[in-house]
Amino acid sequence: MTKDWNLPREGSCRCGAVRLTMTKPAILTAACHCRGCQKMSASSYSLTLMLPEDGLTVTAGEPVLGGLKGDTVRHFFCPSCLTWIFSKPQRVPGFINLRATMLDDTSDIAPFIETWTDEKLAFAETGAPKRFPQFPGPEDMAPLRRDFAEWTERNP
Ligand SMILES: [Zn+2]
Ligand SMILES: [Zn+2]
Repeated sequence: MTKDWNLPREGSCRCGAVRLTMTKPAILTAACHCRGCQKMSASSYSLTLMLPEDGLTVTAGEPVLGGLKGDTVRHFFCPSCLTWIFSKPQRVPGFINLRATMLDDTSDIAPFIETWTDEKLAFAETGAPKRFPQFPGPEDMAPLRRDFAEWTERNP
């Protein structure tokens, strides 16, 4: 059975000025332990739903660029509450990384991979079945997407 993502699925920033609708299933879910994610999330790791770029619609508000200027990833924030909402990685065009905690319902969200365990806080465990010391390489993406699809069928 394929996972039922309950689409379309709504989300927002902390204050609600930016609202979103997720309209396509995630192709991968991830937790990232890198120092940049630690700082921007003010926590031990970030949570991501990787979506096709046309699988996320901003329905209210206008997210603004933030994070590290000149980064290969463009990070978008709420202009009012400054919540980190989503990112567009330039090295993976056509995809958008939604911070999973923006969804109104997060009850079925879990990371399939964790990245940058080289920089993780000693206590931080996510339960992700696959781990990478840094980011997976481009050649890892097709097998990861296939394995993720199988995993979500077993863990709907
Ligand atoms: Zn906001
Ligand atoms: Zn990161």
